[in-house]
Amino acid sequence: MQLFRRQFEIIQEHALRETPYECCGLLAGIIRPSHEGEDYENLVYEIAPCANVLYSGKEHGFEISFSEYLDVEREAKGLGYEIVGSYHSHINSAAIPSNNDINFAKPGHSMIIISVQNMQPAAVTSWYRRESGGFHQEAIRVIE
Ligand SMILES: [Zn+2]
Repeated sequence: MQLFRRQFEIIQEHALRETPYECCGLLAGIIRPSHEGEDYENLVYEIAPCANVLYSGKEHGFEISFSEYLDVEREAKGLGYEIVGSYHSHINSAAIPSNNDINFAKPGHSMIIISVQNMQPAAVTSWYRRESGGFHQEAIRVIE
């Protein structure tokens, strides 16, 4: 997956701002056929910070409301983009998807996880859900 450096920084700033709660947001862009063994690659052009509406346990979980998802999707379409994934943080735990994360990831989408350790972004990973159902880590290409 590819994203701009400024957005890469914004999602980490968002993660720090929401600590001790998990932050969350959506990624909009385009999906293009990839040359690196993946079926497709997600190119992120816009990020949309969202509210974590999980009723309780926001320290180790997140939920994006359906209405906010639809709002972001509509705005993305207006720009010629689609939602290509999401991001969220893990507080004092590794940047590895939880079972809930695995269930949340939609086919064809990328999921960025920012691990915040001791109030610092410690690791940022991305995970890709194949249409066929597999879920694996993918490289994040940060461009200027
Ligand atoms: Zn998670």
